[in-house]
Amino acid sequence: MDSNDYAADVVNDWCAGCGDFGILRALEKALAALQLPLHQVAVFGGIGCSGKTPYYLNTNGIHTLHGRVLPFASGAKLANPELTVIAIGGDGDGLAIGAGHFANAGRRNLDITYLLFNNGVYGLTKGQAAPTLRQGEQTKAMPRENILSHLNPIMLALTSGFTWISRGYAYNIKQLQSLIEGAIAHKGSSFLEVLQPCPTYNDLNDKQWYAGTGVTGLSRLYSLQEDDYESCVPEGANKSQQEQKIAQCVIKAQEWGQRIPLGVFYQNPHREEMTVKINQQQNTYQVFPPAKQPLLDKDNRVAIDWQGLCRELVL
Ligand code: SF4
Repeated sequence: MDSNDYAADVVNDWCAGCGDFGILRALEKALAALQLPLHQVAVFGGIGCSGKTPYYLNTNGIHTLHGRVLPFASGAKLANPELTVIAIGGDGDGLAIGAGHFANAGRRNLDITYLLFNNGVYGLTKGQAAPTLRQGEQTKAMPRENILSHLNPIMLALTSGFTWISRGYAYNIKQLQSLIEGAIAHKGSSFLEVLQPCPTYNDLNDKQWYAGTGVTGLSRLYSLQEDDYESCVPEGANKSQQEQKIAQCVIKAQEWGQRIPLGVFYQNPHREEMTVKINQQQNTYQVFPPAKQPLLDKDNRVAIDWQGLCRELVL
């Protein structure tokens, strides 16, 4: 399959020039590079412009509820661990109404990938300030400047326990594709923030701003990995080595303005993934997860052993 096989043949209503197009293309190319069968990929969208992404892909997908994309995605993965599950939402969706789900998705370390399209505004509802817009900033749709301080998605992902944390840029499709591939391949909760210009409502952080010169005389965007940044917690790392990886991620997460890092900030492949831990308590789970259990017996009666389930919960 090539990347076009992952694209759905439907009309796309994103605005011309929207960064979402670059992210969608990178996602199609990443799925093709990994040669994931269409029926084994489930993509969930929150509410907002980014939430429409599942419509534009030829995979399984659901357009879910505002702020609830991670519970849907988590439920699908727990029901069928063989699926490749990707959750997609904007910064308004995931860091405001969905912030509690964000934090708890990190705690679980379930093997899902969360793509957060960060454009600083609520694009679908005409450009109100979203949680990543900085205090004092005023986009063209706002009558006054933003009086609230911003949330830092990388910091939130780190403190929530995500074990693969990265940032890409919507118009750098090549790097973004590689980051998506890495996020999917990681066995645990992966978080990928994508800086996504919204040319319709955010006139501050537009394509020209991101391409603009920083202190180096080059684009303000730079690659951590090309800067010899080593994000991975080494196998057998002691407490001090683990803390050093967390500390360097905290420092890089604060960088913004003249220099904006892209790439992988932090990865810890040594923490056990959630379905492995479930299997340690219920050793039939991985071979016989909920999606593989029959709903009806041979006489068409409900096959679920409710009494047994209740007994287990009481004990
Ligand atoms: Fe993209 Fe902004 Fe248009 Fe939404 S409103 S489709 S984020 S450009």
